[in-house]
Amino acid sequence: MKTLVTAADLQAAIDEERDLPGCAGLKVAFVPTMGALHEGHLSLVRKAREYADLVVVSIFVNPLQFGAGEDFDKYPRTLEADEALLESAGADLLFAPTVEVIYPEVGELGVAAGIAAARAQSKLNPALKSGPVGATFEGAARPGHFDGMLAVVARLFELVKPDFAVFGAKDAQQLFLIRRMAADLFPDLHIIEAPIVREASGLAMSSRNRYLDQAALEVAGHLSKALKVGKAAAETIGAKPSLVINAARARLEGVPEAKLDYLALVDPSSFEPIDDSFTGRALMLIAAVVGSTRLIDNLTIDFQEPSA
Ligand code: AMP
Repeated sequence: MKTLVTAADLQAAIDEERDLPGCAGLKVAFVPTMGALHEGHLSLVRKAREYADLVVVSIFVNPLQFGAGEDFDKYPRTLEADEALLESAGADLLFAPTVEVIYPEVGELGVAAGIAAARAQSKLNPALKSGPVGATFEGAARPGHFDGMLAVVARLFELVKPDFAVFGAKDAQQLFLIRRMAADLFPDLHIIEAPIVREASGLAMSSRNRYLDQAALEVAGHLSKALKVGKAAAETIGAKPSLVINAARARLEGVPEAKLDYLALVDPSSFEPIDDSFTGRALMLIAAVVGSTRLIDNLTIDFQEPSA
């Protein structure tokens, strides 16, 4: 696996693969990440390999998607360990750019003004606006997060020019917004969803789990258990959405260390909350803060037509 830092080196490395004998129609699959890799990320790399001959992974902690007071500075950066994991998972190229490579504005104007300019630039493109969906759930707790996320994902797509891009179901709202953006700006790109990879406790793997000590990990494990209680209520006794939410919420009542932000059921096709008349596949979302670490998770739940 080769690690590339500049856009020119990345493009040269991809072209080099395309120019190999018999590789003219080479397909490229792309896995964007922020590093501090775990088994969840590696599952995306393996999924990418199912679709394409060349698997490109990026590691970039994107300043545009962090708000003031969030963990941009302390976000774990573990490049050497990540390179070894990616090598073992079979990635071909790692793109690990600097901020200036992704946002040339930073090279010209310095960090603060450059980032502000990059933000302003991306606001000019309506397809990069996360809109009303981007202002709910994670977007309500993290204003500007999804606009910053869309800005970087679009820039990465422009640089890598992939045929496939693989994202985890763990970040369901992000995936919803990326699908919409890609349909507008990159119509030939296939967005692939990969399932959530969990710890044995059920806790969804996350780079931010590194912030949790043993006691906090145990608290965090209750989030997925609450989702499971909700799913069981719907799928085994036919509980309606409002009851499902109550059942899941009740499961967290004895866990005051998990500060619940939201527990909600949405229609995956619109990301809007569902009401009790909903039938079909919904997505149950949860977000909570454990200690000072924000955690999110989700689970699909099937609501059947009531039997006559
Ligand atoms: P991140 O490095 O947190 O920005 O995540 C990079 C990609 O990995 C995103 O598409 C995430 O949805 C995905 N991802 C993160 N955690 C998991 C997980 N536990 N299972 C599956 N995918 C994940």
